[in-house]
Amino acid sequence: MHDSTPDLWDRALGAYLGFAIGDALGATVEFMRPREIAQAYGVHRDMIGGGWLKLPVGQVTDDTTMSLALGDALLAGGTAALQGFVANGDKALLHSIGDSYVRWLKGKPVDCGNTCRRGIQRYLREGTLEGLYNPGDGGNGALMRNMPAVFATLGHDTAFEKLSMAQARLTHHHPFSDSATVGLGQLLRLLLQGTVHAASQQWIAQWVDANAVFRFTPYKDRATAYVVDTVQTVLHYFSLHEGFEAAMIATVNQGDDADTTGALLGMLAGARCGAAQLPRRWLERLQPATVQAITVQTRGLLALSHALKNLPQHPHEGEPHHAPV
Ligand code: MN
Ligand code: MN
Repeated sequence: MHDSTPDLWDRALGAYLGFAIGDALGATVEFMRPREIAQAYGVHRDMIGGGWLKLPVGQVTDDTTMSLALGDALLAGGTAALQGFVANGDKALLHSIGDSYVRWLKGKPVDCGNTCRRGIQRYLREGTLEGLYNPGDGGNGALMRNMPAVFATLGHDTAFEKLSMAQARLTHHHPFSDSATVGLGQLLRLLLQGTVHAASQQWIAQWVDANAVFRFTPYKDRATAYVVDTVQTVLHYFSLHEGFEAAMIATVNQGDDADTTGALLGMLAGARCGAAQLPRRWLERLQPATVQAITVQTRGLLALSHALKNLPQHPHEGEPHHAPV
């Protein structure tokens, strides 16, 4: 930890707001090829809405609203539900999360991925907390919404892994979705601690060695919603550019699933730089209600993580407890 790094609150808020920025910015060019983006915008760098969803300026999509749905369920369950899940395997929290995804879907979100929709409909029909392994479940939908689970379990390794996996499996049952959700969650946790760039790069190199499917050098120029392409794109541009703005512009101009790669890049790069360093011209264009919801959730989820303080830790636990917020 360095004195000059932003504190946990600023980094966590930076991650969530950075995620929303990437979602709103990337949505303009979602499903476009890099050449099409170049023809239409030169370099796409302004939050102007539009895109295939015909969005108003500064509106986020399913990436952010589904994350908020997860955060809502965690906050509504509070200390008791989280402790019950972590200490006793109590399933009430997972049903609240499933119910929250159902409410989200019934609220007619501006977009919803096929695997998310299928999983939510299965939960609604059968009440089951996961489906069978499905080779078609390798999309990025479970990964994309996991940040609130990371915040709520900060400082507790096993709680982080259990909650991340369980919320992911509600809709996606695929080993690459599982490993991407846990892997990017672990990287986010490191960044929230104030890990410097060189150390995060070392962590990424080791993680990619252990999870070779996500190896991103040489970069393959594919940014689809297949979780492997998504993770490779995000890690490639996160590693290439130390600044938030440069990394974000490079990521969304890769096109394809640009709102989701932009959101995940924004999460990591926003945690790295902190909310105070996010580009104002993007932040100011986000819809105020989104900024408000993210701010309230970040505060609540970090506070919720204190519920786990006195529960037994994983033996390999090496994280210091974070400061109260
Ligand atoms: Mn989206
Ligand atoms: Mn997307």
